[in-house]
Amino acid sequence: MLGEGIIKGLAETARNFFGSYVNKERLTTVQYPEERIPQIERTRDFPFLVYDGDDWEKGLRCVSCQICEKECPPKCIYIEKSKDKKPDAVGKLQFYPVRFDIDVSVCMSCQICVEVCPFDAIKMDVEFELSSDDRFGGLLHHKDKLAKSNEYYNKIHPIEAAAVDAALAQEREKEKEKQRLAAAAAAAAAAAKAAAAAAAPASGEPAGGETK
Ligand code: SF4
Ligand code: SF4
Repeated sequence: MLGEGIIKGLAETARNFFGSYVNKERLTTVQYPEERIPQIERTRDFPFLVYDGDDWEKGLRCVSCQICEKECPPKCIYIEKSKDKKPDAVGKLQFYPVRFDIDVSVCMSCQICVEVCPFDAIKMDVEFELSSDDRFGGLLHHKDKLAKSNEYYNKIHPIEAAAVDAALAQEREKEKEKQRLAAAAAAAAAAAKAAAAAAAPASGEPAGGETK
């Protein structure tokens, strides 16, 4: 029927308007900013960078692979990769971002950067009060502003963050085991080499130890 959608919408509005006098659940607006609606798990505004531990610079999970920079539709991520490497969140040596900026005045909150990141290093924040009176650069967020702790991530997205923590813990265990096996193999190889050197004849001495 022509206009059915409009009639349904108006009916819902009327139901909420009159219903709000008897049922608080129907009151869909609050007196912002004094009152705020609690944010739900899937709320997303702009991305932030997750770090582990107490030191945000050392603990950033980002390994500067630049996948998010390439995939970001409006191209508002700017990364400069390091020349050296440092251990990542699971203990492997990786590059890190010397510069990581996001222009949130361009970001459209699509979350593609989050979806493509293989390191769970970038997630969507729930903070939306980001206005600035600086017209030039006020909304270009650098990595010191983008970096937020894993505790913060757990607070704003508890279900998602718990799943990420569990997966990372498994990866860390695997990496530790790999490093332990590599160290054991290296020690065994060194011991075998030392044993072979001890069994070999002294330099200048003919094989079999015979002299004429
Ligand atoms: S949320 Fe979308 S637009 Fe914003 S930085 Fe990520 S990929 Fe780019
Ligand atoms: S945030 Fe993720 S995808 Fe982007 S550069 Fe860092 S590790 Fe790569």
